[in-house]
Amino acid sequence: MSEAEDRIGELRELLRKHAHAYYVLDQPSIPDAEYDMLYRQLEELEAAHPDLVVPDSPTQRVGAPPASLFGSVRHRAAMFSLDNAESPDDLDAWAEKVERSLGRPPGGFVCELKIDGAAVSLTYENGVLVRAATRGDGSIGEDITANVRTIKSVPLRTIKPAPDVMEIRGELYMPVSEFERLNEEQAAAGDQVYINPRNMAAGSVRQKDPAVTASRNLAIWTYQIGFQVGGPTFATHWESVEYLRDLGFPYNPESERVPDLDEVKEFVAAAEKTRHGEGGHDYQTDGVVIKVDSLAEQDELGYTARAPRWAIAFKFPPEERTTKLLDILINVGRTGNVTPFAKLDPVFVGGANVGMATLHNEKELQRKDIRIGDTVIVRRAGDVIPEVVGPVLSERTGKPRVWRMPATCPFCGHPIVTPEGEARAKCTGGFICPSRLREWLFYFASRGGMDIEGLGYKTVDLLLQEGLIKDAAD
Ligand SMILES: [Zn+2]
Repeated sequence: MSEAEDRIGELRELLRKHAHAYYVLDQPSIPDAEYDMLYRQLEELEAAHPDLVVPDSPTQRVGAPPASLFGSVRHRAAMFSLDNAESPDDLDAWAEKVERSLGRPPGGFVCELKIDGAAVSLTYENGVLVRAATRGDGSIGEDITANVRTIKSVPLRTIKPAPDVMEIRGELYMPVSEFERLNEEQAAAGDQVYINPRNMAAGSVRQKDPAVTASRNLAIWTYQIGFQVGGPTFATHWESVEYLRDLGFPYNPESERVPDLDEVKEFVAAAEKTRHGEGGHDYQTDGVVIKVDSLAEQDELGYTARAPRWAIAFKFPPEERTTKLLDILINVGRTGNVTPFAKLDPVFVGGANVGMATLHNEKELQRKDIRIGDTVIVRRAGDVIPEVVGPVLSERTGKPRVWRMPATCPFCGHPIVTPEGEARAKCTGGFICPSRLREWLFYFASRGGMDIEGLGYKTVDLLLQEGLIKDAAD
């Protein structure tokens, strides 16, 4: 071996180790500048010795677009979908079936946060990533290797010797911070914004140019060995994911192994409280996957035609649903701000029936290209005001009407103006504007500014209608 070859091998190992600490463990082991220096050294040596360049070198993540896009890949073991549970009762029913089938309660469960991203299968041969594929129909997926190689928490080579062949399952996802950053960029460039992190993750792995995927900073949690030739055998799922961690794969540290169903339910309840990242995670979860831990018990339980009997996906109540946008109306707030809002075909979302949702302002509406008559995605999370996230363009039919801010206020007839450099339009009618007066009175009453209990919208409306109050001084 030449001196250059030795040094190249050494640098690759160092970079792999530091990248693992940074991207997988989230515990940087050296300053960025030092990492960059090592990386440049490797690049220079490889440039001087092109014959020594190998595909799993840390410098080779972003390659040229592949000649043939998204060829089909047959999974060595089917990628099943999971049956769903939507309530604690559903969990009870599932656990009963498991117990009946085994003739005893299972030895324990593993709870894993369910991330709403894109499922992926990674194939490693002797520790080197050779293929990445989408789930597809479960048997055959699409080859997305060139794009997945660019994701920095996906090891190109394991950090320890690995089995001859391994197919590993994981979920690619878009960190929330990345989602927001990219959408700001898209908007600034006048491009279409993405509706949610899941859409963006799925769109990002199907880019024609791997460099575009690389710029998106996707991340991954692996969660299962789907197929394996050689290497150790395991008694439990937990052991197998610990092994994945040892090899350098990211496995979500929030996962827990619990002894019984009561603790499963506790995990689920706690996870729902932090589903938007309240625990400090940079991802959204839409549920919890619960697996029987013992692999012998998993074998005993087996599969139905479409799903394993040993696992179930608990889904949190949906916070996004689609519905018809019937009309766009405006409201004049207490400070005179004019806000467009959507009149919707009512839909049950986030635990409530929603018939109206905010559209923020005209600029936002144009940016999202929302039109009257569109099928739209409505989001309601926690106590936040429901909002229209965006149109479902694939369901747009006919000629949906583009909405424009009216020139005059429909309540008072005064001009509506948008001050220079501001997104919000304003009604110039002052307190003559009944909509503004109504909002102002409501605000005033609700803040205890007036000693009138129960002065709700209805009362305010009635008083205004009857001409009983004209302005707040009354
Ligand atoms: Zn007005």
